Amino acid sequence: MKILVAVKRVVDYNVQVRVKPDGTGVETENVKMSMNPPDENAVEEALRIKESGKATEIIAVSIGESKCQETIRTALAMGADRGLHIEVEGIIEPLAVAKILKKIVEKENPGLVLLGKQAIDDDCNQTGQMLSAMLAWSQGAFVSKIEFSGENIQVTREVDEGLEILDLKLPSIVTCDLRLNEPRYASLPNIMKAKKKPLDSLSLKDLNVDITPRIQQIKVEEPPKRQKGIMVSSVEELLQKLKNEAKVI
Ligand code: AMP
Repeated sequence: MKILVAVKRVVDYNVQVRVKPDGTGVETENVKMSMNPPDENAVEEALRIKESGKATEIIAVSIGESKCQETIRTALAMGADRGLHIEVEGIIEPLAVAKILKKIVEKENPGLVLLGKQAIDDDCNQTGQMLSAMLAWSQGAFVSKIEFSGENIQVTREVDEGLEILDLKLPSIVTCDLRLNEPRYASLPNIMKAKKKPLDSLSLKDLNVDITPRIQQIKVEEPPKRQKGIMVSSVEELLQKLKNEAKVI
């Protein structure tokens, strides 16, 4: 069984995001970029499934500008077998990503597609669900545990009431939660080895996908600055301020 893992290049989670002065988006020039954190969990889980003998090949796919190849190389350094880069310029919305991934699935025939539960840049949480609908495959979203049982997988996912366990018939789409595992670091020798692993690049023309945007981004703004807090010297003073100034009690 092949596993396809979708890895997105995003602004690193430690970076203080800055909005561009013209409000057209956030600064990505000279900013540290990394693999979307839950996608690291997806790569890690794919590696563990392969190590347990239930998968034969892991393909890491990323869609976006040419620098996405760095993100694919990270997945290869963690242990993925080969990479696929789909060259697209500019912002690409989840529907377009799902359409492209569908084409890749049709080409590669994986038994399992692993994605992150959400990209930390757009916070959309849509791609996996859309892909599952387009392929008419079973899906488990926000998954924190995957267990194989025969031709199926059992996935545990967090819902409002607690933990839900679903039995999914393969092939399936799973979106991974940060609780799923602890992603491994790529060692230096593996980073060197990853440079020699196959990484193919495809264009939208090769895939014949229409990614005309359906959403128009009007403006990006910084959130309003928070006001400085004040220190009170006693509980009495706090109560008095809550009553007379904030008027919340
Ligand atoms: P989203 O629906 O945008 O929150 O993204 C959910 C997941 O879809 C991400 O965690 C990735 O696994 C995958 N994904 C989204 N955009 C891309 C992309 N441009 N390239 C590769 N994978 C992506």
